[in-house]
Amino acid sequence: MTSLHPRLRALESSFGLSTLSPIVDPILSGLRIQLWIKRDDLLHPVISGNKWRKLKYLLNDALVDGADTLVSMGGAYSNHLHALAFAGNSLGLKTIGYVRGERPNVINPTLRDLILWGMELRFVSRSDYRQLRAFKSGTMPDLQANQCWLPEGGASASALRGVAEIMDEIPIRYDHMLVACGTGTTLAGLISAAPAHCRVTGISALKGADFLKDDVKRLLSPNRFYTHWQILQDYHFGGFAKSSPELKQFMRQFYASHAIALEPVYTGKLLFAVFDLLEKGYFKPGQRIVVLHTGGLQGARH
Ligand SMILES: *Cc1c(COP(=O)(O)O)cnc(C)c1O
Repeated sequence: MTSLHPRLRALESSFGLSTLSPIVDPILSGLRIQLWIKRDDLLHPVISGNKWRKLKYLLNDALVDGADTLVSMGGAYSNHLHALAFAGNSLGLKTIGYVRGERPNVINPTLRDLILWGMELRFVSRSDYRQLRAFKSGTMPDLQANQCWLPEGGASASALRGVAEIMDEIPIRYDHMLVACGTGTTLAGLISAAPAHCRVTGISALKGADFLKDDVKRLLSPNRFYTHWQILQDYHFGGFAKSSPELKQFMRQFYASHAIALEPVYTGKLLFAVFDLLEKGYFKPGQRIVVLHTGGLQGARH
């Protein structure tokens, strides 16, 4: 157990508590199924949810190695860049973000925050962005000694380690854990730490995400073989960041019933999937389900 760098420990001590909240709903009592939401959205207003879990040890590695600049990549609404820019600013580290696509004429709220927190933005074409994706863990060309590269979504062993800590905070026995997937890094972290009897399910926020399964396998420790997980691909609502009136209606209804805000890119699709699976009889009576609220509400401001 490496101890946290003092600056990171100070930042973490300002965080809120991620609670495990029971959901009360007639469909659940009818099926004798218990559902909880692990509220990682409550951790921090900016470094929210899984972005903190994934960044925690990446940031620690950078501080311990004496890096002064964090370099990463993401879309123009990226929760990852948003969390990274804020964390870098809080920790006294410079940040550089490669942003997919041309610099937009109107700067959206996410980009405005990145600029406010001092992130240097480098807009790159979609084909250049795809090339950056090839630089997975740890390294990319043209990096200076003081710079630390974080691959898209933070995908790395250090990210998995931070995500795994979520499991230590769940004091109940449960049969299913479900999470929304972008790069699948959070899913991989959950799989790596799940109790043996627990089935871990990722809900893909992307369309045609067959590559996700291999990405997750690659992230998982190569000398261990995990079988108790899957990725469901039927809940993308047309693709990444696509939505529908049905999804929006579901999110409104969910907020009205449970006072928990969701966003349409990830967590809305996740909870929609959970209730759809409940209605289809996917879970067995007596089972306990934990759903991870990965936060990300900043991305819904537009
Ligand atoms: C980034 C993000 C995800 C996806 O996480 P991955 O580790 O890339 O799969 C899920 N939910 C929210 C709210 C996010 O911001």
